[in-house]
Amino acid sequence: MSLVIRNVELEGCPGLHVRIEAGRIAAIGMEVAPGAAELDGRGGALIPGLVDHHIHLLALAARAASLDLSEVRDAGDFAGRIAAACAARPAGSWVRALGWHEALSGDVDRAALDRLAPHHPLRVQHQTGALWVLNSAALDALGAGHDPPGLDRAAGRLWRGDAWLRERLPNDPPPLAPIGARLAACGITAVTDASVTTDATAADLLAEAHRAGDLPQRLRLMSGGPLEAPGDGAFAVGPVKILLDDHALPGLDEMVAGIAGARAQHRAVAVHCVTAAELALTLAAFHTAGAAPGDRIEHGGVVPADAIAQLRELGLVVVTQPAFVSERGDRYLAEVETADLPDLYRCASLLNAGVPVAGSSDAPYASPDPWAGIAAAVRRRTAAGASLGLGEAVGPDAALGLYLDDPAAPGRRRRRIEPGVPADLCLLDAPLAEVLAAPSAERVAATLVAGRLVFSRTPV
Ligand SMILES: [Zn+2]
Repeated sequence: MSLVIRNVELEGCPGLHVRIEAGRIAAIGMEVAPGAAELDGRGGALIPGLVDHHIHLLALAARAASLDLSEVRDAGDFAGRIAAACAARPAGSWVRALGWHEALSGDVDRAALDRLAPHHPLRVQHQTGALWVLNSAALDALGAGHDPPGLDRAAGRLWRGDAWLRERLPNDPPPLAPIGARLAACGITAVTDASVTTDATAADLLAEAHRAGDLPQRLRLMSGGPLEAPGDGAFAVGPVKILLDDHALPGLDEMVAGIAGARAQHRAVAVHCVTAAELALTLAAFHTAGAAPGDRIEHGGVVPADAIAQLRELGLVVVTQPAFVSERGDRYLAEVETADLPDLYRCASLLNAGVPVAGSSDAPYASPDPWAGIAAAVRRRTAAGASLGLGEAVGPDAALGLYLDDPAAPGRRRRRIEPGVPADLCLLDAPLAEVLAAPSAERVAATLVAGRLVFSRTPV
C-alpha cells in the first residue's frame, strides 16, 4: 500500500511530493509516481512526528477521568468542588481528585477529607503526583494488610503508592484511546513513558492499547524494576528510572548500586532531579559508577552553573519540560530564592555548553501539548506574563528540535525525513516559519505513524 503526500514544504523547500511504501519514506521529489492513496499537503510543512521524551500515560488517562483541582482558588473552593463531585456520584463510588496543592487549597489529611466526603471513598493526589491523601472510606475500600512503606494510615497519606493502588483497584484502568487521539492531534508519533511504577501489568495495558490502535504512538517504557520487551515490538524498553525524593535522599552507595542494577539489565539510567541536592547526589553517583550512553537527567529543575561542566563531562542528557516555565513560573517566582532563579529549567546555557537537551511535557503534571512547550522554550514567560530566565530562551527551530530526536537518543539524534526512514510524520497547515511564529497544535493538519494516518484535521 503506497501513499503520496503532495505539495509539502520539506526542510525549507516548497512544492515537494513524498512517496511512502510499506510504512517508510520511499521517495522525495518534484515528481513522484502516483500512490494508491494521496494526501494533499496544500503547501504546509512536513516534519518528523514529534516525540514527547517524558510523559506518564496512565496518569494522564486517569486525570482525564478525574476531578481536576489544579485551578482551585482557596480552601473553600477546594471543599466545594469535592462536595459537588461526591453529590454527582452514588454513595460508595470512588472519587478521584488530582492536582491538589497545599499553597492554594490548604493542607488536608484523612480527617479533613472525611468531613468533606463522608459517604464516598475519596483519593486526592498532590500536584507533584508523589502523594495521595485518602479518606477513611478509601482506606476501608483498599483493605488492610500488606501496607506499602509509604502509607501512613492515621494521616491518610500514601507516598509513591501508585503500584499498590493499581494492585488494589484492578478494575479501574482508565481509557487510553482519548489520550492517544489527543497526542496524535498534536503531531506526536512517539513517547517515552517515564513512570517508575511501570511493571509487567502496566506495560501490558499500554502494549494492548498500542496493538488495538488506541495508542498509535511508538512506545518506549522506563520502569523502576526489570522489564521485558514484547516479541511484537509493541513497546521498547527504556532506561531504568531512579526516583529521588528531596526529603529522603538515598545514600551515595544506594545510588551507585541502583546504577549497577541498571547496567546488569543492559539499560541506561534516568534520574529524577528537580532540586540542586538531587542533582548533586546524582552527579556524584555517576562520577563513581560511570555514566553510559543514554543516561539521562529528568527535569533538571535546578542546575547550578558549576554543574553544567560536569553534565557535559559525563555525557548526560537533560530531559526538560519547557512548559513548566509558563504553567508554574509564577509560583516559582514567588517561592524560589532569587539567587536560584537563573538555575531554573535551563535550556540555552546547557545547549551552548554542549550538554544535550530534549523536550517533554511530564504530562499530566503539565499540558501534553508539545507546541505549548515549544512556545514556552522560545518566550520564557509565565502565565501572568513575567519573564523567567530570558537568557535560557532558544530560537524556534531549536525549540522544535527538542521534540524531534530519536526516542532512543534524546538530545543527540535529530530525525530527518529521508528515503528509508519510518514514515512517522507531522503535516502542518502552513510553511514551518509561519507555524513557528505562533506555535500551536491547531496548526497540525495530519499525523502519520509508519505511513498510517492517525490524525487528520479535515476528513480525507
Ligand atoms: Zn515525570
